[in-house]
Amino acid sequence: MTDQASGSSVSCADPEAPSTLTVAAAREAILANITPIETNLRLPLRDALNAVLAQDIVSPIDVPGHTNSAMDGYAMAGSDLPQQAYRDFNLIGTAVAGAPFDQSCGEGECIRIMTGAPMPAGTDTVVMQEQTTLVNESLVRISQGQHPGQNVRLAGEDIAQGSVVLKPGRRLTPADLGILASLGFAEVTIRRRPRVAFFSTGDELRSIGEPLAAGEVYDSNRYSLHGMLQKADVELLDLGVVGDDPDALRQAFDRAAEAADMVVTSGGVSVGEADYTKTILQQLGDMQFWKIAMKPGRPLAFGKLGDSNFFGLPGNPVAVMVTFYQFVLPALHYLATGTPYTPFTLQALSGQNIRKKAGRYEFVRGLMQRLEDGSYQVDTVGRQGSGILTSMSRGNCFILLPEDCDGIECGDTVIVQPFETLA
Ligand code: AMP
Ligand code: MG
Repeated sequence: MTDQASGSSVSCADPEAPSTLTVAAAREAILANITPIETNLRLPLRDALNAVLAQDIVSPIDVPGHTNSAMDGYAMAGSDLPQQAYRDFNLIGTAVAGAPFDQSCGEGECIRIMTGAPMPAGTDTVVMQEQTTLVNESLVRISQGQHPGQNVRLAGEDIAQGSVVLKPGRRLTPADLGILASLGFAEVTIRRRPRVAFFSTGDELRSIGEPLAAGEVYDSNRYSLHGMLQKADVELLDLGVVGDDPDALRQAFDRAAEAADMVVTSGGVSVGEADYTKTILQQLGDMQFWKIAMKPGRPLAFGKLGDSNFFGLPGNPVAVMVTFYQFVLPALHYLATGTPYTPFTLQALSGQNIRKKAGRYEFVRGLMQRLEDGSYQVDTVGRQGSGILTSMSRGNCFILLPEDCDGIECGDTVIVQPFETLA
């Protein structure tokens, strides 16, 4: 460990607290400890949306499979087009998408052609119907100004036979499913989805439906976690609420690690008397505990429980969401795809001054909106305490204020991360 904020992967953000990590250093250390999933399975195309591709998709065919017309009109040889005035072409047949014209088109001849129909032999050009005049039933007048080769889609211009269309590690999009179908794939090989077990810890927590006694609170973290995990497209195992009891916690840790690739808990990672998460992770697995120079969400326990990856998130509801999005989500992405996560960010103009101390990363909840000139403005959503969960629901983005930032003035450009893009 060094005292410098840059360079080393385990760098300190605050020289007065040598065990405090920067956000970037914590992310790096997490990725270094995760081994991406390598188990594959075959899925029918319709079930494969959002799944992570585990094979090279090599095109067995050209798409389009044949050179065809991009317009309804008339096909002819481009060399026959008039250089000036006009020329009348003899109409000798019709080509439709499902019924090609199977003879050849000679000099001075043309063929009525519909969009998608294969180009008949002897033709390489289509003139749009709207730009022609039918002189009589068998004579089509074409004026100058047309170009040889126009309005034709070439065989293989979208996908060439033998080319690699999609690569392993890619999450399949609706467009990808269409492409796979256009190549004739009925099934694809994909990676198994990560299994994530999660539970809340705390004697004060009650499940919804139970009455609250004095000092008790409803367990909300399990619901925000459930939602975030569901969006991250993982298999979920909800292990409920576990009290601040070492034996019960040990049992829950074992059960979770047995069943899942990743275990996520909330609460019990601070330095209070009932904070057992670190001790138990140490007993049952390998623990790394960090104070991360960030707000909210300073304490984070990370480690291994057998082959499983463990995240002990803080208990405060906003801190849970911020640490999930900033650390667990990139880890899940790497676990699922084998590729690092690249956050989507935008620039926006701050609508007000934001006070901030240099030395820690702050994830301020903001509400961004598009202005008439197309730029974005972002305003903070009021109270920002780590227990104020409404700040996450009223906001639509994080305003990212890195360690070296020492405050924002109204009109300054800031980087924002839209919540919509977090999945
Ligand atoms: P802890 O880190 O366990 O001391 O928890 C910090 C704060 O978060 C306390 O006020 C807890 O009551 C609260 N908290 C912990 N877990 C939850 C939860 N699952 N749902 C709502 N609040 C929680
Ligand atoms: Mg607690």
